[in-house]
Amino acid sequence: MAYQTLYLKYRSQRFGELVGQDAIAQTLRNAVEQGRVAHAYLFSGVRGTGKTSTARILAKAINCLDRKGAEPCGVCANCVEIASGAAVDLIEIDAASNRGIDEIRDLRERVKYLPAVCGLRARDHRTAQDSADGGLALPAL
Ligand SMILES: [Zn+2]
Repeated sequence: MAYQTLYLKYRSQRFGELVGQDAIAQTLRNAVEQGRVAHAYLFSGVRGTGKTSTARILAKAINCLDRKGAEPCGVCANCVEIASGAAVDLIEIDAASNRGIDEIRDLRERVKYLPAVCGLRARDHRTAQDSADGGLALPAL
């Protein structure tokens, strides 16, 4: 069996699995259930508090083909692709090492196209501070 890092193996896959982020999870659940998802979200916090996990869950929730309430099903094609990091419409950028003009040009080129598969294009953009004490995640354009 292929080795899988612990943070990937145990990453929360649903809003209900997020630990210690009840208010955030409920706020995002309400937005998804009511169809009032904002065009961008900013997640900030120390390393390991769930910024990336929350962004991925939100990306799955808004693109899930068989959503139960606000929770993504976790088994449809969109959920599986987003969870595996293979979704063409989910762009994750480590801005700590991709902060040059060429990278920003590339990002601008990629975000202007309509989603290929998912209903919405999601982007997770981490700042240089993310590795230390901050983070930026922008799902749903
Ligand atoms: Zn799904």
